[in-house]
Amino acid sequence: MKEAFDVAIVGAGPAGTSAACILADAGIKTIVFERGEYPGAKNMSGGVLYGYDLAQVLPDYVKRRCPIERNIVESRIWYLDKEGGYSLAYRDSIFAAERKHNVFTVSRAKFDCWYAQQAAKKGALVVPATVVVDLPRDEKGFVVGVVTGREDGEVRAKITLLADGINSPLAASTGFRLEPKAEEVALAVKEIIELPAEVIEGRFNVSAEDGVTTEVLGAITGGMSGVAVIYTNKSSLSLSVGANLADFAAEKIKPYELMEEFKQHPMVAPLISGGKPMEYTAHWLAEGGYDAIPKLYGDGYLITGDSAMLFNTPHREGSNLAMASGKMAAETIIEAMKGKDCSRDGLAGYGRRLAESYVIKDMKKYRRFGRFLYQNKEIFNQLPHLAAFAGREIITVNGVSKKEKQKLIIRELRRQLSLCRLIRLAWRGWRSVK
Ligand SMILES: Cc1cc2nc3c(=O)[nH]c(=O)nc-3n(C[C@H](O)[C@H](O)[C@H](O)COP(=O)(O)OP(=O)(O)OC[C@H]3O[C@@H](n4cnc5c(N)ncnc54)[C@H](O)[C@@H]3O)c2cc1C
Repeated sequence: MKEAFDVAIVGAGPAGTSAACILADAGIKTIVFERGEYPGAKNMSGGVLYGYDLAQVLPDYVKRRCPIERNIVESRIWYLDKEGGYSLAYRDSIFAAERKHNVFTVSRAKFDCWYAQQAAKKGALVVPATVVVDLPRDEKGFVVGVVTGREDGEVRAKITLLADGINSPLAASTGFRLEPKAEEVALAVKEIIELPAEVIEGRFNVSAEDGVTTEVLGAITGGMSGVAVIYTNKSSLSLSVGANLADFAAEKIKPYELMEEFKQHPMVAPLISGGKPMEYTAHWLAEGGYDAIPKLYGDGYLITGDSAMLFNTPHREGSNLAMASGKMAAETIIEAMKGKDCSRDGLAGYGRRLAESYVIKDMKKYRRFGRFLYQNKEIFNQLPHLAAFAGREIITVNGVSKKEKQKLIIRELRRQLSLCRLIRLAWRGWRSVK
């Protein structure tokens, strides 16, 4: 006989595990399948998490010894050309005091594993090393559980939650969402570079617990629409660089070539000097935005996290949207169980909850942003060059008058981009985030 559960969850990432914690707390019989050898084994992110959303699921996550690497007290944004660039930073002592753990870094391999252990302690059954290969339906079209790659691997469930991330062919192969188009995903590579904790603290000017995030835009993605990041962990730095998958295909640039160039950039090289490369991985990012969100629920199923394309591109927020949507999916399931209605009507509360939350509000606000970057490559080509030219001229003291330098900069601007194009770019940029 096939074993029956109330809820089957596909994927033990932040979305699936958040849902599992809430469901187990409510006494709902929940099983979580994870294809990795252990939760986290297949996961990768720049390593930033957000305390607010985690606390909505596990208010005592610090007491439960969440594997926090560093508490973030400073956010930097860099706009780089090949040889130099601009840096804008905001540091505030509030993030080491009242707002401590607003943002912190983790190793996803350690965090996902710890998080799944918390769900298991609450009573969810977490089954690693098991791939879900199908989502069977009954004669009325209701999803009735999962089929795994194991022998006799069918498990019945009243409701199935797809939390399988962006890199899973399952949702597309079973028709629950379309295969993402190349321009709807970014391909990112990540390298972990080990350094002694004191070296990191000295180079980033932080205390033993604190850290810095750096988001990098400009010429470092070889003219493609993309971004790089540097995050401080306890005794390592996470570097990632990624760009739109369609751009990679068109430009024939290899991701590891981007990483090598990034590491050699004069603003990056001194930060990683003497470090030991430890880990190298690649992953997709769900960058389709609001217009690529699939149908989020139906008869007997819901979709959450990256699998539902919930990723805020300009703010690089994904893990928090995954946790928040996982929690809302679980709350809706609890409601549906009480009402004994697992149909799309019984699960409609999920759509309402998401629409009222910051998740969909932010996705709507930035719905044009991904397309704006993709369609305006000046941001990654001419503009960083121009900005660097202006910076270099203004800083160089060489007997040339400032008026003359101003003329030089305007002449270069006209050579690279017309004023009209620049104004149009600024207008489109504003419209994409307003
Ligand atoms: C380079 C990079 C940097 C990032 N930086 C940040 C950041 O700084 N901050 C941030 O908030 N977000 C960041 N993100 C995004 C963030 O990682 C995701 O938004 C987040 O992990 C989504 O969580 P999820 O649970 O929906 O999916 P995932 O974390 O992808 O988890 C899905 C899980 O499902 C499992 N799975 C998939 N298919 C199956 C199957 N068929 N059967 C069983 N198991 C399956 C996978 O193994 C995986 O464990 C980054 C992403 C990348 C790639």
